[in-house]
Amino acid sequence: MTETADVVIIGSGIVGSSVAYHLAESGCTNVLVIEREAHQGKGSTGKSMGGVRAQFATDVNIQMSRYSIDFFSRFDEVVGHPADYRAHGYLFCATNERQLDYLKTNRARQLALGVKDVELVSREDILKFVPQLRADDIIGGTFCPTDGFVDPHSVMMGFMLKARECGVRLWLDTQVTGIETESLNAGTAGFSPAERGTESSLDNPEPPSKRRASETPAVLVTAVPIEHRVTGVQTSRGFVSTNIVVNAAGPWAAQVARLAGAELPVEPLRRQLVPTEPFNQLPQRFPMVIDMSTGFHFRREGKGILLAWNDPEEKVGFKTEFDPKFVEKILTRAADRVPCLVDAEVNPRRAWAGLYEMTPDHHAIIGPAANVAGLYFVNGFSGHGVMHSPASGRITADLILKGNSDLIDTRALGLQRFAEGRLLEETAVL
Ligand SMILES: Cc1cc2nc3c(=O)[nH]c(=O)nc-3n(C[C@H](O)[C@H](O)[C@H](O)COP(=O)(O)OP(=O)(O)OC[C@H]3O[C@@H](n4cnc5c(N)ncnc54)[C@H](O)[C@@H]3O)c2cc1C
Repeated sequence: MTETADVVIIGSGIVGSSVAYHLAESGCTNVLVIEREAHQGKGSTGKSMGGVRAQFATDVNIQMSRYSIDFFSRFDEVVGHPADYRAHGYLFCATNERQLDYLKTNRARQLALGVKDVELVSREDILKFVPQLRADDIIGGTFCPTDGFVDPHSVMMGFMLKARECGVRLWLDTQVTGIETESLNAGTAGFSPAERGTESSLDNPEPPSKRRASETPAVLVTAVPIEHRVTGVQTSRGFVSTNIVVNAAGPWAAQVARLAGAELPVEPLRRQLVPTEPFNQLPQRFPMVIDMSTGFHFRREGKGILLAWNDPEEKVGFKTEFDPKFVEKILTRAADRVPCLVDAEVNPRRAWAGLYEMTPDHHAIIGPAANVAGLYFVNGFSGHGVMHSPASGRITADLILKGNSDLIDTRALGLQRFAEGRLLEETAVL
């Protein structure tokens, strides 16, 4: 008998797991998540630094963070599993007026969007958090106490466990090798699901021309005639019949999109993290500290310190081995800002590398494919996929089940923005 599912999700990382959870919470439980690895978390999710913050520069990122951080603060109670959310804050440190103006502008935007507790802080305030900083060139900064960290593995497992309790199925060790579509001839051409407006049904897309005037859609995507629609996926376990496929394949998202003949501008980019051995010369608890002069940032991880810096020389590609030469590069930046870190011991074998999934404007792509009905993207988080996982799961489930979402203006993150030149600009990328 052919396997069938209402929705197939490709990828069981934190994003695919959140989509599964949000679909199940909305009553859509005939969902199959397909993961090629034998265990969850082998992709970017297992490599993440776990940072969550609302201190962003664009409305849509701030809105996604607001929803997500509130969700993380209630995660254990709502999902029934721990997220290990620690509200230790993010502390941005500016070393020139341009950076400080930028933080002030962002703060005004964050306050306007309901992130009420972002504070402007002085050099003296900053030194109270971490007295060991070299602060002679720091002129001020911002601090948000509800920013902080989660355990990405726990969040992913929590979402998936709860989804499975509701009936969602998870196939591990199974690769999706093809996405089957059928051609729609000119006479029966459909429209992108986001075109269907709020009254849409999964099986019966109604073109805008047939919609009643009162059903003005909340999502006004340019009418793109659909050339194909999804009929199923080919996997290493056989064919699965479905009309809805969600691409949650993280850094491999462009490859998965191509299986359906769709182009997706998502590229993998290596990021490396270096933990120190136990280190007691810094406080036991302090925020994520960001040195805006270099982009170096760090936080406590257990008894040691986790050091991060995005090397601008890194080139696009599927490279996940850690480069031992990176240790010296990052320690130079670390010791410059936190002189006592010269005493920190680092074992390069405990350091690791993973992949960011980058888009041209450093914002996620969430929503339907332009020319394949039933194919949805939730990709390209550009370093923010863990912190935005609650919002992205909810938005994707809303789009599939209702055709729109009240969480954000979904047009902002739709793939169409690239074709229409409506790129967003997020400069607060870490
Ligand atoms: C070093 C580093 C630090 C980071 N720090 C942060 C941070 O502090 N905060 C933050 O929010 N984000 C951070 N990120 C980004 C974050 O980790 C990612 O955005 C997020 O994990 C993406 O989740 P995902 O579920 O989309 O992708 P993934 O976790 O990569 O999951 C995708 C899954 O799809 C599966 N897959 C792919 N192709 C197929 C196929 N054909 N068939 C079946 N399965 C398939 C893969 O095996 C994988 O398990 C960091 C990333 C890195 C690398």
